[in-house]
Amino acid sequence: MNLLIIGPPGAGKGTQSEMLCEKYNISQLATGDILRFNVKNETELGLQAKSYMASGKLVPDELIINMMKDEILKPVYANGFILDGFPRTIAQADALNILLEEFGKTLDKVIILKVPNEKIIERMSGRRICRSCNRTYHIIYNPPPMDGECSCGNSDIYQRDDDKEETVIKRLEVYDAQTSPLVEYYKSKGKISEINGDNDLNAVFLNIVNSIS
Ligand code: ADP
Ligand code: ADP
Repeated sequence: MNLLIIGPPGAGKGTQSEMLCEKYNISQLATGDILRFNVKNETELGLQAKSYMASGKLVPDELIINMMKDEILKPVYANGFILDGFPRTIAQADALNILLEEFGKTLDKVIILKVPNEKIIERMSGRRICRSCNRTYHIIYNPPPMDGECSCGNSDIYQRDDDKEETVIKRLEVYDAQTSPLVEYYKSKGKISEINGDNDLNAVFLNIVNSIS
């Protein structure tokens, strides 16, 4: 099964993707995670992407599309994937169509997660990430199982630099301007589920699963 999840920063895309991967035995393809890995390792791509990410802007389409061409062919996605954070522009969505066609794949469902902006700031300020496995937590709504320790056993749980309030506000503006047009784009193609993400995370998950099956 191949899925795509779209929503503003903090909507719960990463959280729901993790749960969907477990349920359907598919792999998460999160462009933000791949980019952060490249920034940390100071690769050519990381050096080019770093300043855009730090200021809450989108990394240029060309860099992202080239990155995706390599990524989507990896064997780990052969059994299915959930795209989280890509596409983020109409140009990226057009490029995805071409890539899928080339590799004989289709999207089974496009999940749109809706959360009002005022809820986003609170979610982002409490977001924490495991440096080892990238699992997402929230200090109140989804705390790590043991104090400061991820379920993978690692105890290096950190806060992203771009989760500070002024960068989150910028990222929400970028979402409204550049990514939200994708909702209409995919509506016109069918196969979409619009889900209220402003709900308990298990309730959101159940609604997504019901809309898929
Ligand atoms: P969130 O989950 O909070 O929406 P991500 O981890 O997906 O954030 O992305 C973090 C940053 O990485 C974005 O603000 C942007 O700078 C960059 N990024 C990630 N995916 C893309 C993409 N598809 N196109 C352009 N930039 C991207
Ligand atoms: P995204 O990938 O869309 O940027 P995340 O999955 O990282 O969003 O979620 C953002 C923050 O909100 C995280 O700290 C996460 O634990 C928390 N969160 C996710 N879903 C919910 C929910 N339904 N209710 C409350 N908090 C949530």
